[in-house]
Formats: sequence, C-alpha cells, structure tokens
Amino acid sequence: MTDILAPVLIVLATVAWMEWVAWASHKYIMHGWGWGWHRDHHEPHDHVLERNDLYALVGAAMSISMFALGSPLVMGEGAWWPATWIGLGILFYGIIYTLVHDGLVHQRYFHWVPKKGYAKRLVQAHRLHHATVGKEGGVSFGFVWAQDPAKLKAELRRQREAGIAVVRESAQPVGRNL
Ligand SMILES: [Zn+2]
Ligand SMILES: [Zn+2]
Repeated sequence: MTDILAPVLIVLATVAWMEWVAWASHKYIMHGWGWGWHRDHHEPHDHVLERNDLYALVGAAMSISMFALGSPLVMGEGAWWPATWIGLGILFYGIIYTLVHDGLVHQRYFHWVPKKGYAKRLVQAHRLHHATVGKEGGVSFGFVWAQDPAKLKAELRRQREAGIAVVRESAQPVGRNL
C-alpha cells in the first residue's frame, strides 16, 4: 500500500503544482517577455496551429526530461525515482490542459458547450481571459482553477476604469481562438 501511496501523492501534487506553474508563466512570461509566442492566441485567425502551441512543446520537454531523470536506462545509478512520477503528473496536467483549454474552450477538436456546473464556469472564466486586447492587464491566467465569472467581470471593469487594460465591450463569439 505504501509502495503506491508515495507515487500517487507525487502525481497529484505535481498536477496541482503545474496549475500554479501554468498560472504564473501565463501571467508573468506569456503576457510579459514571452508575448511574442502567445500573441497569436489573442488575435483572430483561421490557422490550424498557433505560435502559442510552442508553449505546449515546452511542457512536453519538461515531462520528457523528468522521465529521463527517473530512468535507469538514461541515468544509470544516478536515476532519481520520484522524477518518473513528477513526469507523469506533468503529462496528466498537459492532457487536462489541452482537453479544457484547446478542446472545451477553444473547440479546436471537439464541440461541447456546457450549460451548467464547473465546466461552464471554466469556459466563462477563460473567455473572460480573452476579453482584454493586448498583453496588459487581464484576468483568469489559470486554466483548471476558475474563479467566479462575476468576480472576474468586476475585476475587468476595475482594470478598464483604471486604464490598466483595454477591454472588449461585447462578448466574443465562439471561435477557434477567441
Ligand atoms: Zn493569455
Ligand atoms: Zn485561450
């Protein structure tokens, strides 16, 4: 039992930690010096791929590096077993992220519009992330933990009035990236 307990806890902790990593890097890197790769995700287009997808490759590289670090085949005696489970947690987060963000919200590969519950809240929260124009300001930088949309709207109003962000007046139509 204890043999499986530690790995399960490591995977769960990694998934939670990745939501923090995604939030922080979205807010401070992607909307900061990394805007060049993120910008096309915030602009209308009809391409299949976005430069922003390069960030998914960064996530994949993090996961693969951890699997390598945990593998005796790669690391020999120096293999560090927890790394395998950390790599698996990053992989799980990547799957959750793409299902929620690329699938549910942006409808890149399936169309299901949730009418109620947490799934609806996830969609609303991320749509409100796309309510600002450009890299300044903005709300809801996380992906899996979504705040109450009413609170997010109030925060957007505050940012507009304070001149921190340019906020779109009308709700965005459902589309590939907006
Ligand atoms: Zn963004
Ligand atoms: Zn998005």
